[in-house]
Amino acid sequence: MSIPPAPSRERLTELFLEFTRLRSPSKDERPVADAIKFHLAGSGVSLHEDDTGAAIAGNTGNLWCLVRGESTVPQIALGAHMDTVEPPDSIEPVLEDGIFRNAVRGILGADDKAAVVGLVHATELLRASGHQFPSYELFFTVSEETGLVGAKHMDTNVLSSPLAAVFDASGPVGGITVKAPSQQALNAIFHGRAAHAGVEPERGRSAIQAAAQAISMMHLGRIDEESSANIGVIQGGTASNIVPDLCEVRGECRSHDDEKLAHIAASMVDALQEGAAHLGVDVDVSLVNEYHAFALTGRAPVVRLSKAAISALGLEPVMKTAGGGSDANILNGRGLPTVNLDAGMMQVHSPDEHLALDDLERLCALILNMIMLAPEYSPRRSTSLGGARG
Ligand SMILES: [Zn+2]
Repeated sequence: MSIPPAPSRERLTELFLEFTRLRSPSKDERPVADAIKFHLAGSGVSLHEDDTGAAIAGNTGNLWCLVRGESTVPQIALGAHMDTVEPPDSIEPVLEDGIFRNAVRGILGADDKAAVVGLVHATELLRASGHQFPSYELFFTVSEETGLVGAKHMDTNVLSSPLAAVFDASGPVGGITVKAPSQQALNAIFHGRAAHAGVEPERGRSAIQAAAQAISMMHLGRIDEESSANIGVIQGGTASNIVPDLCEVRGECRSHDDEKLAHIAASMVDALQEGAAHLGVDVDVSLVNEYHAFALTGRAPVVRLSKAAISALGLEPVMKTAGGGSDANILNGRGLPTVNLDAGMMQVHSPDEHLALDDLERLCALILNMIMLAPEYSPRRSTSLGGARG
């Protein structure tokens, strides 16, 4: 590999403070999308935007672009998401003792702006340096935090790279998520019969009691080392003196094994139906497959590339198993082998979220290594053109 340019700590700091100051909860990513477009335009790169914003009642679509280097076809697609979980009214990012934090109580948004900044700066460096570099693609998704909604809506056939990586896992740079579970979302509405609770309770059928009965029959929490189940929301009823005629229950289950997942989901549905039958009420149940599991082996080209790119920084690559999904689940599900790499952010989704400038610098250096080394691991390496992806 030819030696990539070195990231600038000053520029990374400037970009990170700029991007984290922009509030971008899911469906409201416009300020971040515009800032990405602005900075990449400065490097002569223009982005496409799809119509996902309109489709999901948001104000922004997914972005993608080809960054043309010396090869005619791109060797790798690198991505990040533009939204954050709900931020405080204002975000005041500060850098103290080498650590970025939010001076106001609330998230910082390093998840996933660390990656956005790393990708923007790496591209600035390559385009400005006069270095030879392989062509690559960038993509930036919306509404990742609300269930990978942007990636699900994206036509991923716009990407023609044979490999991909997202930088959306917390932990110091060096971790490679190669395995993530499937998730099923469960929603049930119990329909009972309302009645005055004191005057004629016999006429009532309690939707809340049916839900309680159902939940008490479920096996929840950690089911085994690769599976879990949860009921996270229950709501219903209107007043303490009325037998409730409506109760909604929402939950989920996850597993790295699809057969187990189907079994766990079926037993949750059975419990819901038994609870309803016990109280003589009706229940409507819906099960939605939120995302599909993936598992890449150590021999997969994208995993070998990630290890080489991390090792070239003098760091030890660590293969990790995730408990949740990311855009990598969607891309792998569509046949594009994708790893999720640790982006240096810590305690994400909490007021203690922080990121070390050292880690941001390592993340950018990792991105540069991934780009420079990609041709050596690309499945397309021996042929002039890759096959079409279904
Ligand atoms: Zn994230």
